[in-house]
Amino acid sequence: MSAILQTYNRKKISFKRGRGSYLYSNNGKKYLDFVQGIAVNSLGHSHPHLIKAVNAQSKKLWHVSNAFNIPEQEKLAKRLTQKTFANFVAFQNSGAEATELAIKIARKYFHSKGKPNKNRILCINNSFHGRTLATIFASNSKKMTEGFGPKVAGFDHFTFGNHKDLEKKITKKTAAIMIETIMGEGGIKVIPDFCLKGLRKLCNKKKILLILDEVQCGIGRSGKFFAFEYANIKPDIVPIAKGIGGGFPIGACLVNKKVASTMKPGSHGTTFGGNPLAMSVGNAVLDVIFKKNFLKNVRNISRYFKAKLNNIQLQNQKVIKEVRGTGLLLGLQVKVNQAKFIEKLMKEKLLTIRAAENVVRILPPLNVSKKEIDQAVTIINKVCKSYK
Ligand SMILES: *Cc1c(COP(=O)(O)O)cnc(C)c1O
Repeated sequence: MSAILQTYNRKKISFKRGRGSYLYSNNGKKYLDFVQGIAVNSLGHSHPHLIKAVNAQSKKLWHVSNAFNIPEQEKLAKRLTQKTFANFVAFQNSGAEATELAIKIARKYFHSKGKPNKNRILCINNSFHGRTLATIFASNSKKMTEGFGPKVAGFDHFTFGNHKDLEKKITKKTAAIMIETIMGEGGIKVIPDFCLKGLRKLCNKKKILLILDEVQCGIGRSGKFFAFEYANIKPDIVPIAKGIGGGFPIGACLVNKKVASTMKPGSHGTTFGGNPLAMSVGNAVLDVIFKKNFLKNVRNISRYFKAKLNNIQLQNQKVIKEVRGTGLLLGLQVKVNQAKFIEKLMKEKLLTIRAAENVVRILPPLNVSKKEIDQAVTIINKVCKSYK
């Protein structure tokens, strides 16, 4: 019996190595990996540039305390701020930590303005912001919060798409609205551009902060560096994680100048966050993602893939209800048993992963080839046909 705490219903398969879009199992099978550690391995497995970076840094220096200056961290922060809305970055180790820091900064901002009661964060019901105590109560799904009371105070919720409910829930005590630009775990639900624009206006009008959780949809996953760039808006605080490390655990919270000044020496800290080893990998990931035309290619291949998926949907309407997503954060909302569908894909050597609302998430690496997309399309088609 496994000595691991049973918090996952694990598939009975393990892998010995990965290369690009492919994973090789211990029993000698080759899989097309369109999970990529849940949008983490943005450049696929064993990317040569990342291997080089991690090898080189591992021979120099792994970890020093944030009590000292860390040049690799300075460099990554500078690059993230030069390319985005942000003026400052605080590095963490995971998405939950990054979102939790976003919450802390929003509260501290109004506290430092002499409004300590303006501390509530308004979120979407059944969203996903992580698994720490604060972030599960921010997400507000029964599955995640049940049994973990007392409830962490300070979170209000509105229903996805219900604008009236959203406006009604903003009170004098609201400090910020925090949403995922594209809801990942919640079922690949894209917040439309006009909503994001409206949300920015609403936050300005009510003088509250806008936090956009881009832990899953950020770092090129949507086809833009940040998904909110499509709407041409600027948030105040953006937690990131998954894709920035390309498989190495990195989280970060990006902030604008306005809210940054509220955080002072001692108001937050981390032992591991931003160490030289992690930062070298993060910089290597950006070397590739910031290359000219890289994101354009993501958008092009996404268009190609989505057109194929939409075609499959049209021909298999009893199996697939809807194709969802932007860039390479895609989902098939199936009408059939979700677990069975994923199992059938896996039998055909295509790995995918579930999301809420009966959605099968499809997350290729951002540098996936057209040939690999074609291979996945053939498999998805075959599995759909098997229901006839
Ligand atoms: C995965 C995820 C998180 C949590 O990240 P962890 O690294 O698992 O803590 C937070 N927000 C969103 C939108 C995510 O997809």
